[in-house]
Amino acid sequence: RAEENLGSTEETSCWVCFATDEDDRTAEWVRPCRCRGSTKWVHQACLQRWVDEKQRGNSTARVACPQCNTEYLIVFPKLGPVVYVLDLADRLISKAGPFAAAGIMVGSIYWTAVTYGAVTVMQVVGHKEGLDVMERADPLFLLIGLPTIPVMLILGKMIRWEDYVLRLWRKYSNKLQILSSIFPGIGCPVPRIPAEPSPLADHVSATRILCGALVFPTIATIVGKLMFSSVNSNLQRTILGGIAFVAIKGAFKVYFKQQQYLRQAHRKILNFPEPEEA
Ligand SMILES: [Zn+2]
Ligand SMILES: [Zn+2]
Repeated sequence: RAEENLGSTEETSCWVCFATDEDDRTAEWVRPCRCRGSTKWVHQACLQRWVDEKQRGNSTARVACPQCNTEYLIVFPKLGPVVYVLDLADRLISKAGPFAAAGIMVGSIYWTAVTYGAVTVMQVVGHKEGLDVMERADPLFLLIGLPTIPVMLILGKMIRWEDYVLRLWRKYSNKLQILSSIFPGIGCPVPRIPAEPSPLADHVSATRILCGALVFPTIATIVGKLMFSSVNSNLQRTILGGIAFVAIKGAFKVYFKQQQYLRQAHRKILNFPEPEEA
């Protein structure tokens, strides 16, 4: 050690424990960074303790000199083959974790969609017929076709055709005077054009779209059975039920929205009440 310090007038001392060369002649010294002067040298053991404190158990964390910010070069003894393989496996597993989780998520959603599609096919065309159709179909076609059923239902639910009907209605409202005897206020001229609600405030929540879309085949089946019991084909009956449901619900929605619109248009702002004289 003495020869390394040759030419230096400074005494070698450890910046962790402040002990000098004289205090412990057997201690191992290290010069881990670019520092010069009194913080150049440090005991190997002292620096190890200091690094342990900095790393807080994370043995791969980078540690740098607090003075000159040089990153310490830390080397580990070579691992035995068994420990090496175990270490590699551990690292691979922790790297693959998020991908595996994402894959499982996507897979679950996909298989849920396939199951939903199959249940819907059986519901719409009838249990036995549905099974027959799916057994005869190409498996690849089923794997792609069945999950598109819920996707199409959700996309269909997102089309807001009632808004287009409403817009047309308002455009040609003066030609709809006849209808105003049935639905009050439909064809009347509007005294004021209310501000349209911003699309953001008017937006329908995602859960509502999802639930509405996925429940739709069940509702179509029920409505079909109630309204078109004379139709023998399950498929035709459900399609008719679906169309009837969409039309009736749409009509109510359009009517409700138009009433809200008229309520806005006919609103009045009152005079502030005068203070009563005593
Ligand atoms: Zn020391
Ligand atoms: Zn340094």
